Amino acid sequence: MKCRFCNSPSYVEIRYPKKINLCKEHFIEYFEDRVKKSIEKYKMLNKDEKILVAVSGGKDGHVAAWILKKLGYNIELFHINLGIRGFSDESLRAVKALAEKLNTPLHVVDLKEITGKTIEDIKGKKCSICGITKRYLMNKFGYERGFDVIITGHNLDDEVSFILNNVLNWNIRYLAKHEPVLPAHDKFLKKVKIFFEIDEYLILKYAEAEEIPFTTAKCKFAEGAITLKHRAYLNELEKERAGIKLQFLYGYMKNRHLFKVEEEDFQFRECEVCGMTSAGKICSFCRVWKLYKKKRRKEDNKVE
Ligand code: AMP
Ligand code: ZN
Ligand code: ZN
Repeated sequence: MKCRFCNSPSYVEIRYPKKINLCKEHFIEYFEDRVKKSIEKYKMLNKDEKILVAVSGGKDGHVAAWILKKLGYNIELFHINLGIRGFSDESLRAVKALAEKLNTPLHVVDLKEITGKTIEDIKGKKCSICGITKRYLMNKFGYERGFDVIITGHNLDDEVSFILNNVLNWNIRYLAKHEPVLPAHDKFLKKVKIFFEIDEYLILKYAEAEEIPFTTAKCKFAEGAITLKHRAYLNELEKERAGIKLQFLYGYMKNRHLFKVEEEDFQFRECEVCGMTSAGKICSFCRVWKLYKKKRRKEDNKVE
């Protein structure tokens, strides 16, 4: 197979909306153009914003940082060391390699230094606590350091498996609030997913074409997660019907308003422990890591 635009051998087959083969160079151009169009379509970013890209060490965040830098955005990198044995060290090595290759500042925070514990120490729902922890720490860091926006590497496959999972469970609340751009409010920074409509497979092919350093190490605690199974069926379907993932996403975007429920005048407040924006008296981060106990101990010591 030859590239549609030149005589070079095909590097990747694009299957939707049209079936075309592209060589490495034309694929790089095509991919960057798709991302650029997505950024424009959803009014995701401005060139004058100070952008913090959350990088896990995996391909998605790394490709996000790479392409934003190439497109001339003002970015810095942010990584959380979660303290997961056999995974976090490898991840940290990968983000350092990326920062060096991009010549971009990298900020690393260590969960153990902040909470005294790691993800390994959690009994019970590790993945949901890890999710709360990552969202909180990236937001707090970005907010305190004066960033305007946080970018994560969530891609089309993440989005459709999330939607499918929440349809299967009829989690209307989650379905109502899912978007490529979450605007800033209170102490929450704006959050953007630049790969909202970009297939994971293409992100991998771009990472390889551009020789972007990343790790393929997977977190041992995510093994067997149901959303991984949803991704697999959706990709099986995609083989049969090219474009079905994107159509599922677009259909959701068009009909998402159906899930919006009237909320009473909801008031956010400041967490009594950390002062960040919270729905309740104590934010979920301070609750799951029991930081109110630490604070209470400190106050008791002061009284004595
Ligand atoms: P995941 O929750 O692992 O699917 O990752 C989704 C996105 O969250 C990644 O693409 C990153 O942008 C961000 N992320 C995940 N893990 C970390 C981490 N340890 N440090 C910083 N950002 C992360
Ligand atoms: Zn070509
Ligand atoms: Zn808090």
